[in-house]
Amino acid sequence: MASNAIEIHEQYDLKLLTTLKAGGRASKLCFARSRDSLAEVSKFAYQTGLKHTVLGWGSNVLPSDNGVPGLVTVNLATQIQISRDGTVTADCGAGLQELFLKTAQAGLGGLSFAVGIPGTVGGALVSNAGAYRSNVSRYLVEIEAIRDGVREWLTPEFMQFSYRDSILRQVNPPSITLLAVKLKLEHGDAKQIYDDAREFQRQRIGKQPPSASAGSFFKNVNDAELAASLTSLPLPLKDAGVVPAGYLIEQCGLKGKRFGGAMVGARHANFVLNVAGATASEIRRLAEYVNAQVHKEFGVWLEEEALYLGDWSHWQTTGELTE
Ligand SMILES: Cc1cc2nc3c(=O)[nH]c(=O)nc-3n(C[C@H](O)[C@H](O)[C@H](O)COP(=O)(O)OP(=O)(O)OC[C@H]3O[C@@H](n4cnc5c(N)ncnc54)[C@H](O)[C@@H]3O)c2cc1C
Repeated sequence: MASNAIEIHEQYDLKLLTTLKAGGRASKLCFARSRDSLAEVSKFAYQTGLKHTVLGWGSNVLPSDNGVPGLVTVNLATQIQISRDGTVTADCGAGLQELFLKTAQAGLGGLSFAVGIPGTVGGALVSNAGAYRSNVSRYLVEIEAIRDGVREWLTPEFMQFSYRDSILRQVNPPSITLLAVKLKLEHGDAKQIYDDAREFQRQRIGKQPPSASAGSFFKNVNDAELAASLTSLPLPLKDAGVVPAGYLIEQCGLKGKRFGGAMVGARHANFVLNVAGATASEIRRLAEYVNAQVHKEFGVWLEEEALYLGDWSHWQTTGELTE
């Protein structure tokens, strides 16, 4: 790696780089300002056996209080190119909302759902981010990546996308850095594109708390039997067999429940908030307590949508609110 070109910071505080404003330090951290430099750092990390974590805006992660070993690279590569035929090429460090704005300005529809989702294209791909029945993988044609130290273009199928999931969320994920995407969007009615975006934004403002969070902490539950058994669940959700995690948490009476500086959202129960300088351990403890209560009440375990980063090797799940 041209280490003379990229500055490596030691013991960098990850609270500064995550929307939950919690967690420990990265042993080593650098900022990649272009697609090529992200590629170079990723190859270097692979060749030297350094554990490598790429971070976008840190809006879907909780780094351990014990820190993140290896090298963390913050992706600041943000180029977006739009062709007349609706083909869009974007660096994975580009903001998802910026991508919506630029494509909407070019008269291209499809990404209105992204308004209000913080984060980069890369982070969005990892969890197949979405809202309002759409998601980021829908318009994907190809992904440029570093896989096992080699730069190549991958098909969307490689990523095994499903609801808020991809191959990169597996327990032992392949060694992949996402560099860029190619999307194919359709020309649409400009007024309709902005109207949709405005409406989505309006709905979001009504639900989303302003405090530090990682968005929805848990995934919704696809369980037709459970949905049918819940008398107060709205009919469209019953029909779809989907139970929002926030519904289950609210039914357990946990809105506003606190542990240390962490709190279950009072407005939206699926948000775990950092309201008073919470440690990552306090946030995780509260989230696991919530999960245990939901399991006790409804017999299902919730799956985290937020990702735990770094060294949680000494962590013990108790489901109790003790230190
Ligand atoms: C207020 C709020 C609202 C939200 N609303 C939504 C919503 O409506 N829908 C939704 O789906 N999500 C939502 N989120 C969650 C989050 O914004 C998305 O998951 C977002 O796409 C994450 O992007 P990021 O750049 O912040 O990723 P990060 O949090 O930085 O990273 C997430 C994961 O992706 C990995 N990663 C990031 N970039 C790369 C890369 N280039 N190559 C390889 N791995 C990479 C990281 O290592 C990490 O494992 C919300 C979050 C907040 C705080």
